[in-house]
Amino acid sequence: MEKLQLTLAIIKPHAVKNPVAVSYIRNVIKNRFVVVRTRRVILDANEAGDFYQEHEGKFFFNRLVTFMASGCIDLHVIAHKNAIDLWRRMLGPTKVYKAQFQEPYSLRGMFGISDTRNVAHGSDSTVSAEREIKFFFPDFSFYEWHNNDELRYR
Ligand code: ADP
Ligand code: MG
Repeated sequence: MEKLQLTLAIIKPHAVKNPVAVSYIRNVIKNRFVVVRTRRVILDANEAGDFYQEHEGKFFFNRLVTFMASGCIDLHVIAHKNAIDLWRRMLGPTKVYKAQFQEPYSLRGMFGISDTRNVAHGSDSTVSAEREIKFFFPDFSFYEWHNNDELRYR
């Protein structure tokens, strides 16, 4: 039995609006991960800015925040023994030209439109996964998750 790690996947607004993308992405998530929580939300610009606070000051920050607040996003807390790396590998590179040329079958390679509209988000470490899951699921109990063997082991 393997211990399961958690990560936060966010399907970005342009992908949520694309029925082919969203159904494909939901399927790969269901097939590869244990889906722990799911929620659909619309962020305002302040919330999007808080979520992406590490990028404040960068040239793309305003563009990113405006985009992330432009429509529904789908949140999925997902688990796998190697959830953080696996989900980021499934996403492919951040930049869309790189994704399309180097990883054409990654989610960003297939459905990415621009460096901002690059399909989905994935936490980049266990620390950011915990912060990001708490950000959207304040009632989520990491204590319970880490202490309930039936949840953590599959
Ligand atoms: P990742 O989402 O792969 O972890 P980053 O954390 O570096 O990438 O950036 C967060 C998000 O900001 C990216 O997913 C993308 O939407 C946007 N972004 C990053 N770099 C750029 C860029 N050079 N131009 C436009 N948007 C960008
Ligand atoms: Mg990142």
